[in-house]
Amino acid sequence: MKYKNEFTMTVKSLSENESFVRSSVAAFCLPLNPTIDEITEIKTAVSEAVTNSVVHAYPDKVGDIVIKVKLSEHDILISVTDYGVGIDNLEKAIEPFFTTKPEEDRSGMGFTVIESFMDSFKLERNKGAGITVHMTKHIGQANTQMVGDENAWAR
Ligand code: ATP
Ligand code: MG
Repeated sequence: MKYKNEFTMTVKSLSENESFVRSSVAAFCLPLNPTIDEITEIKTAVSEAVTNSVVHAYPDKVGDIVIKVKLSEHDILISVTDYGVGIDNLEKAIEPFFTTKPEEDRSGMGFTVIESFMDSFKLERNKGAGITVHMTKHIGQANTQMVGDENAWAR
């Protein structure tokens, strides 16, 4: 696929970075003319992946989270990588309601939300440590909703 634009950012696994990352990704995809719904879905999926890295990958320390975004004519590709504890059973982890932190009021729905909001979603074990969440979405094909609400991406 031919990419028109791309960026990579690395943030520390601090919860305050989660809103910064999701707004950055949303702003970056604006040239593709996404609908409000598409922006909301992308922001939510990015939030879930970054929150997982903050909460699960680095439970007792602060580590790096790398977010890569690529844009083609009508598609966005996003990957969220951490170098944390990793996941033994990837199939189990993506099951709805599966969580290893029920005591912290986690519902086990993060991956299910990502899967439902994005067109494709894949988990990959990194060679060294940690995981990468890959996701793609086709956007900008039904785009009259931005009129009068140009600032929706910033919310
Ligand atoms: P919720 O997202 O609803 O708050 P959750 O984070 O437990 O709850 P998921 O996001 O679906 O649910 O993740 C399922 C499980 O996969 C987690 O409980 C955790 O055990 C594991 N997991 C998810 N992301 C990571 C990660 N980046 N590193 C290590 N383990 C992870
Ligand atoms: Mg989660």
